[in-house]
Order: sequence, then structure tokens, then C-alpha cells
Amino acid sequence: MADKNQEVMDKVISLCKRRGFVFQGSEIYGGLAGTWDYGPLGVALKNNIKNLWWNKFVENREDMFGVDAAIIMNPKVWEASGHVSGFVDPTEDGKQFNVMFKTAVGAGEEAIDSYLRPETAQGMFVNFKNVVDAFHPKLPFGLAQIGKAFRNEISPRDFIFRVREFEQMEIEYFVQEKDWKDFFENWREQMFDWMKEIGLPKSSIHELEVPDGDRAHYSKRTIDFEFDFPFGRKELYGLAYRTDFDLKNHSDSSGVALEYFDEESGERFSPHVIEPTFGVDRTVLAILSSAYTEDELGGEKRNYLKLSKNIAPIKAAVFPLLKNKPELVEKAREIYMMLKKDIPQIVFDDNGNIGKRYRRQDEIGTPVCITVDFDTLGEKPELADTVTVRDRDTGEQKRVAIKDLIKEIST
Ligand code: ATP
Repeated sequence: MADKNQEVMDKVISLCKRRGFVFQGSEIYGGLAGTWDYGPLGVALKNNIKNLWWNKFVENREDMFGVDAAIIMNPKVWEASGHVSGFVDPTEDGKQFNVMFKTAVGAGEEAIDSYLRPETAQGMFVNFKNVVDAFHPKLPFGLAQIGKAFRNEISPRDFIFRVREFEQMEIEYFVQEKDWKDFFENWREQMFDWMKEIGLPKSSIHELEVPDGDRAHYSKRTIDFEFDFPFGRKELYGLAYRTDFDLKNHSDSSGVALEYFDEESGERFSPHVIEPTFGVDRTVLAILSSAYTEDELGGEKRNYLKLSKNIAPIKAAVFPLLKNKPELVEKAREIYMMLKKDIPQIVFDDNGNIGKRYRRQDEIGTPVCITVDFDTLGEKPELADTVTVRDRDTGEQKRVAIKDLIKEIST
């Protein structure tokens, strides 16, 4: 790894800890390999990503159905899906090691062995019939789920890139077999749209056509979307054509037909599946590592996160110009409370001098800082009820009327 890239990675990890994005899991006990805890800003960033995704791919569409399935499933699910026999990685001495986490469900002799799910996908396949029976969707349609997945990775590494407990945002999109190529292309474009929306630079994204022999056991075609992380070009997301493998196998194993009845042709069949999959933690890492920027502003060195407005954990910070002037503090708190009603991710800060406050917000990627000064209170009558709004990236300031602040922050 080039030294400079290692340096960026170290700076991102240090920022994450210092500013409360991501902490080592169980840190006070020396940690636990492959686990990380998200702090207040990390949770906010992650929630913004997940909400944006859910909004884009579920709520804004008529052909998508959300589910939230149990993490611990009947072990037969994992036999039918091929994970019990095939979800293995080689250990250093060449043995095949199944990376599913085993767990016992129930007490004493009643207990059965099961697993923590290694992917969210199966929670959707086993609910295929439930959703069809409850909603009678027409093909094509999809199921979507956001949730935790667990893999006992042999060597977790690269911060939150390869961990043992992570989150996935997945879609199983059901189509007729003859249409799979069109929908594969369509989802490929939608995945690019998504990456653009969250501000990932297109030049850092690379598609890898996974060749025969390297694909997962269920896939007839897979594209990996690789990203230029500081430690190299690695898989961020995947897009797979899973055929009818899962629905067929679950039909055979459970004895419950997972089929779709096509009213026009009068046919009954198991639809084929296109699966776009998005790792949440890798999204966070791609965003943070590409947003991390160092520059000079007003003759001083600074570092900041160039986050898109839609995912920034804090949308705006409100300051009184001076801490020891009660009339400024009072007005600033009033504006803060007013904004917070509409946009909850707002903070108030009156600590230290104004320059330090700007730097603190820059470092966590807050797009704008709002400052209340004497002009706000009417010292210059023509500026009464206006504030300064400072832009994170340029440091430029402009005067904005208090009544226009919500619009200013949200667009
Ligand atoms: P890799 O080849 O890096 O192990 P994979 O091909 O096994 O990944 P998939 O099974 O396709 O990954 O999982 C779907 C998505 O889940 C990945 O694209 C990634 O974003 C995320 N993911 C998978 N494994 C991990 C992990 N150990 N830590 C964090 N995210 C993960």
C-alpha cells in the first residue's frame, strides 16, 4: 500500500474516533476483531444513507415491497440456499472453513443449531409467497430489506471494510426469465444513480465482470462495483443474476410452491431474480475516505469532509458571534429551535472562538454554519433579521434572511 494512502486511511480512522463516528467494538476490553461501534455522528450518517436508500428504492416506487425478516432463521433455509455446504473460505493451512456463525436456539435437549444470517437475501426469498398472497403484485416487482448480516471472516481488516458483523441493503427483483438481461442493465444504471446521489466520485468506481468459475454458486452473471478505497480497489457493491435458483430450491426443500401465477398466459412459474446488493459499512467507508479533504483556507491548513448535503450527519450549525452577549445567544438559540423543528440534524455551538467552531463543523462535514451577530438584532437596520451563512467548501459567507434559512439549508 502506498504510504500516502495509508496516511489518508489513518487520518480517516483517527477522525472517526476523535469526532464520534466509529469506535473500536468493546474498546475498553481491548476490542473484538472484526467489530466496530458507530458513535452519534456515525449513526446519523448511516441512518441518512439507509433512509435515502429506502426512500429511493422502496417508498418512491410502486413495484417494491419492504420486509424486515428475523436474523435467526430455520437452519433448513441455509441448507436449501447452499450456504451450509458451500459458504466457505480457505484457512491458511488449506482447510475449508464455513464462515457462518453457528448458534443454539432454545434450551437443553430442545436446542437446535442454527446460524446468524450471512446475507439478508434469504429473508426475502422465504417471504416471497407471503408478499404475493398479501399484495398480489404484478411482475416485475421486488422485495427490499436493510439489516445486519454476520460472517465469521477469517481475517477481518481495513477498518469497517471487512468486518464480522455488518449491514446490507438488498433487493431481490423478480422478473420473467426472458427479461433478465434488460432488468440487469436497468439495475446497473440505478446503482450508478445511487452512487452519484450519495456523492461518490464516478472516477473511483469500476465495474468488474466476474468471470465463470469465480461467481457465487447461484449466479449466472455478476458485476462487482469496485471502489478506489485508500487501501486499494475493492468490492463496494454487487449486482447478480441469481436465476430461479433460490425460489426453486426453497420450493423443493419446504414443499411450498414459491410461484407466480401469470393471469394473461395462465402459467405458474418461479420468477427469476436480479439482486442488487449494497453494503452499508462499505458505503460509509467509501463516503468518508473520498470526502476527506485537506486544503488551505485564509492562510491556514484545515481538513474537512466534503459530504453531500443529503447524507451529512449535521445539516447546519447555529452560532452566536460572541458567547458572552446574552442577546446574541438568545437570538441564536431561538433560530436553532425554529430550524430544528423542520430539520432535526441541527446543532448549536457557542464554545471557543468562531474560527474554531467553523473548523470543528468542517471536520465533520457540516455543509453550512449560521452566525447571529449584532446586525441580526438590527444594529444596521437594513440587515435586521438576517444572519451570515458560511459555506463549508469555500468558506464564503453571505447574508440570508432568517425566514429563508430552511430553504437555504435544504437545497
Ligand atoms: P467479498 O468478496 O469482499 O468478501 P462478497 O462478494 O462475499 O464480498 P457479497 O456476498 O456479494 O460479498 O455481499 C454483498 C455485499 O455485502 C458486499 O458487496 C459488501 O458491500 C457487503 N459485505 C460482504 N461482506 C462484508 C464484510 N465482511 N464486511 C463488510 N461488508 C461486507
